[in-house]
Formats: sequence, structure tokens, C-alpha cells
Amino acid sequence: MNPSHTLYRIQRIDSQLDSHRRRVREIDAELESDQVLQQARAQRRSLEEALRPHEARATNLNLEMQSVTAQRTQFSNQLYSGAVNNPKELQDIEHKLEELKRRHSDLENALLETMITVEDLQERLHTATEALAQIEAERASQHGALLEERQQLRLEIRRLKAQREKIAAEVDGDTLALYEDLRRKKQGYAVSVLEGDRCQRCAVSQTEVIVQQVRQGNEIVFCSNCGRILIAR
Ligand SMILES: [Zn+2]
Repeated sequence: MNPSHTLYRIQRIDSQLDSHRRRVREIDAELESDQVLQQARAQRRSLEEALRPHEARATNLNLEMQSVTAQRTQFSNQLYSGAVNNPKELQDIEHKLEELKRRHSDLENALLETMITVEDLQERLHTATEALAQIEAERASQHGALLEERQQLRLEIRRLKAQREKIAAEVDGDTLALYEDLRRKKQGYAVSVLEGDRCQRCAVSQTEVIVQQVRQGNEIVFCSNCGRILIAR
């Protein structure tokens, strides 16, 4: 009996298996590398790192301003307490107070500038954190769906393999080896359907003799152009 149609059934199963296995590999790759998620994490980390020195600077400026304020209070008290009467000393205190006032004003400006940077970075960090949280939530549900899909594919692969084994048992070893070899060489398609007088895979018209042989179906017939096994519809 001509096994060509049986080989065609095996080929259809093999094509499904190929497609399922390809999808499983895609899912594995997607689960492993997630660029969008990694970028979102990197973005937040870099903003956190950028923010840190500016926050430290703001803290230092605040501390220094507190210290300057304390010194000003101290000198003011001296000046107005009446305890110092020497004009030279009084003048010195006044000079120091002026100097501290300038210093305070400089610190205030520096702090204002720093706070603008800090607030800008904090706002961007907040946005980045929210974006990351959203991506992570999306991934959790997506990954759930992907894991489910992969599980279904694995079950289907197992079912198809069992089915293939059953059908392959109907064909002798040499014929099966011929099929496997052709399938490897012909991009996964060892068997082609004859449509009219044309090979479906390569679209080349066959001779009358070949067409007759395929229709009779007594033996394996090959396409005169691509070399695939031809079967009638
Ligand atoms: Zn052909």
C-alpha cells in the first residue's frame, strides 16, 4: 500500500508540533528577558541616585543656615544688651552681623536653587515609580497568561506526539526515514498536494505520466521539480 497519504498526515502533525514548539520558545524568551520592565527599573534607580546628593546638599545648607541664625542672635543680644560699651567692639559686632546677614542670604539662595532641583527630581522619581508599579502589575497578569498558555501548549505537544507515534507505526522504517530526510531538506514539507497538474509547494506543472501515477496512488511519486512526495487531493 502507498504510504504517501499517511506521510501527509504525519506532516500535518509535525507542522503543528513545530509551531507549538516555536511558541513555547517565544514564551520562554519573553519570560526571561523583559526590556521594558528592566528599563523602568533602571530609570527609577538612576533618578534615586541623582536625587541623593542634592538632598544631602539641602540638608547641609539648612544646618548651616541654622548655625548662622544662632550666631546672629548671639551677636544681636550682645549688641542690644548694653553689656558692650566700647565703640570699637560695638563696631566689630556690627560688622560681624552684616557679614552673617550676607552669608545667610547666600545660603538662602543656594538652598532655593537646590530645592528647585530636588523637587524636580522628586516629581520625576514619583512618575517613574508609578510607571514601574503599573508595568509590574501588568507583567504579573501577563506572565500568568503566558504560563497558562505554555502549559496548554505542552499538553497539546504531548497529545500530538502520541498521535504521531500511532500513525508512524503504520509506515515502515525506510519510508519514515525517507520522509524525515525530505522534511529536513525541504523546509518542513516532505509531502505536497497535486493541484490540477501542479505541485502545490513549488507550483511547477507535472507531466501527464506523473499526474497519472499520483492519481492511481500505487506508489510513491516525487515532484519532478522540488522532489517532494506528491499526493492527489
Ligand atoms: Zn514540487
